[in-house]
Amino acid sequence: MSGHNKQTVAVVGAGVVGICSALELQRAGYQVTLFDKTPPGEGASYGNAGFLARQLISPLAENMSVFSAIKMWISPNSPLCLPPSQLINLATWLVRFMQQASKKNIESSKRAINALNELSVESWKRLLTDIDGLHFLHKPGYILLWKSKNKMQDAKNELDMMQHHGIKCKLINSEKIKKLEPELDENLSHALYFEDAYQVSDPYKLCQAIFSKFIERGGVFAQQEVVSIKQQDDTICLTTSKKMLFDKVVICAGAWSKKLLNHLGLSVPLVAERGYHVDFQKNNLNLKHLIASAENRFFISPLESSIRVVGISELGGLKLGAIKKRFKLLKNQSAGIIPKLRSSKHKSLWMGHRPTLPDSLPVIDCHPNHPNIMLAFGHQHLGLTQGAVTAEILVQMMKNEKTSIDTKPYSATRF
Ligand SMILES: Cc1cc2nc3c(=O)[nH]c(=O)nc-3n(C[C@H](O)[C@H](O)[C@H](O)COP(=O)(O)OP(=O)(O)OC[C@H]3O[C@@H](n4cnc5c(N)ncnc54)[C@H](O)[C@@H]3O)c2cc1C
Repeated sequence: MSGHNKQTVAVVGAGVVGICSALELQRAGYQVTLFDKTPPGEGASYGNAGFLARQLISPLAENMSVFSAIKMWISPNSPLCLPPSQLINLATWLVRFMQQASKKNIESSKRAINALNELSVESWKRLLTDIDGLHFLHKPGYILLWKSKNKMQDAKNELDMMQHHGIKCKLINSEKIKKLEPELDENLSHALYFEDAYQVSDPYKLCQAIFSKFIERGGVFAQQEVVSIKQQDDTICLTTSKKMLFDKVVICAGAWSKKLLNHLGLSVPLVAERGYHVDFQKNNLNLKHLIASAENRFFISPLESSIRVVGISELGGLKLGAIKKRFKLLKNQSAGIIPKLRSSKHKSLWMGHRPTLPDSLPVIDCHPNHPNIMLAFGHQHLGLTQGAVTAEILVQMMKNEKTSIDTKPYSATRF
């Protein structure tokens, strides 16, 4: 495929990261072909909460000791789950994960998550303006709730941490919670309120809209599984059912990226961290804000056509099916925050694979030995939030321009 006036780029993976990257690379003047084994936007990007979660800067390893991790992972009601069958596969990853729990490592992960998140909403505004899609963006505000009065200090610590990282929020009491969000349970103690919190109205429709614009502008989509990527002289050979040559390739295959890298002599500790959603019919439920439970680590998101409850962090790999009791847990816990959900019917149940590295940071980098192979995966809980900014950084890297932020923390060889 080389030989056009424009340089050719293959983007592997049509999740939110790949679709945003394909569009931005196209806008930067490359001839882009987007590959996915399934239709666009049907991986982890399909069923997320739609939260542009600029406020989520704590890595998964925060507050983890070996003891607390084991306790959480074996408890049936824990938001963190580790199916026993996965323990052996994950042993090395878990060791690396626990190494990330040191105070120094947590602080550097936080700084690096914050650096991307700080740019995230503005990047989305630029992308959405470009595709006439600003109607997807809303600013509902976000309420992080505590039920237990005894957890007041936790909220104060979180408030201090947010302020330290330049994120605006305030501590509010139960009366103020009720006033902001009358649908919530009476027995909530306190919350942090983030007025400047954004979301998109429907994450799947958003992917579809960006993808349509990419196609309208001359982009090509190939619904094919990429089985290998190899350097061949000055070009990159990509194999599906046939072989194709490109000037450059970007790997955005989410939780599946590790397999493609194995052929390229690069090993990264990437795992599939499974998350679940329960979509409730809206009926007479008029939820205005994004809501999260600090104690049980789940989110409730008012989307365009449903109330979506998301949560669970399950290290279950790519092959295991969804575990039914996780949906039940999300239903019960969300009804404890919004009583009307107890009698609401669910519209859909879904499980997706977050691409997760032990330090909760993505890889945004060139392959160390093949600079024309670029990498953008591992966005864990924040792939939607960081999709547009990742795409902008990728373009800067590909054009050898100065990047908006220091990209060293997202290097492929940091492990
Ligand atoms: C329950 C849940 C809630 C979430 N909520 C939020 C939220 O509110 N805000 C937020 O920012 N993030 C959220 N996330 C995280 C976010 O959804 C992910 O980080 C993001 O979707 C990852 O995007 P991606 O493009 O990297 O991967 P994916 O969307 O998984 O896309 C990867 C694509 O690569 C394709 N692929 C893989 N291998 C190959 C191959 N060999 N050949 C061809 N194609 C291939 C797959 O088919 C897939 O379509 C949530 C995640 C979950 C599970």
